[in-house]
Amino acid sequence: MVNLEKVQEWITLFIESLCGKQAYLDRLDSFIGDGDHGMNMAHGAVALRRTFEQDPPQSVEELLRRTGMTLISNVGGTAGALYGSAFLEMAKASQTSDDLGKILEAGLGGIQKIGKAEASEKTMVDVWLPVIAAVETKQLTAEKIEAAVASTKDIQATKGRASYLGAGSHGHVDPGAASSGYLFQAMMDGGVY
Ligand code: ADP
Ligand code: MG
Ligand code: MG
Repeated sequence: MVNLEKVQEWITLFIESLCGKQAYLDRLDSFIGDGDHGMNMAHGAVALRRTFEQDPPQSVEELLRRTGMTLISNVGGTAGALYGSAFLEMAKASQTSDDLGKILEAGLGGIQKIGKAEASEKTMVDVWLPVIAAVETKQLTAEKIEAAVASTKDIQATKGRASYLGAGSHGHVDPGAASSGYLFQAMMDGGVY
């Protein structure tokens, strides 16, 4: 059951982890990308904090929609468009459902609409898919989130910048998978799940 207070806590905790993990996410991206994922997401996080402090959202739909718009306009790089699309689709879904699984499915749809990635292409999709399945069967745990993030290590990237490395992308956790891990850990800690 999704409500404003909990979703607010979710996004607040996500903002905090993005700011705290900036250097780690940049480092992950430096192995298989261009080293900016932490900085990109931290920019978005700071913009989110600013907009919600100035003008607190009045509904779950507004909170999710403004999160999407803020990420699209403040996060450089692919991840901004992908997370932005995810939040805009979650906002739409929240108008007709307060079921977390349905809302997250809509978010994944937003990511795939833009990025076209399926399972096992070493992207954030590899975290969203198992997390949604676990939410729907009421079996989500912190360990499952961590395992999904870690599983991207042994995949060869076929989407995104890391795919330019071919076999060289093996052996490193995908940065967008790691930031999605923080998103879902924040969702659990915020009491949304
Ligand atoms: P950029 O690659 O433009 O610098 P970021 O570094 O911010 O953007 O984000 C990279 C992350 O975006 C990757 O680690 C991956 O998880 C995600 N990503 C890239 N392309 C796709 C895609 N087509 N579908 C889903 N996720 C993707
Ligand atoms: Mg990058
Ligand atoms: Mg970049």
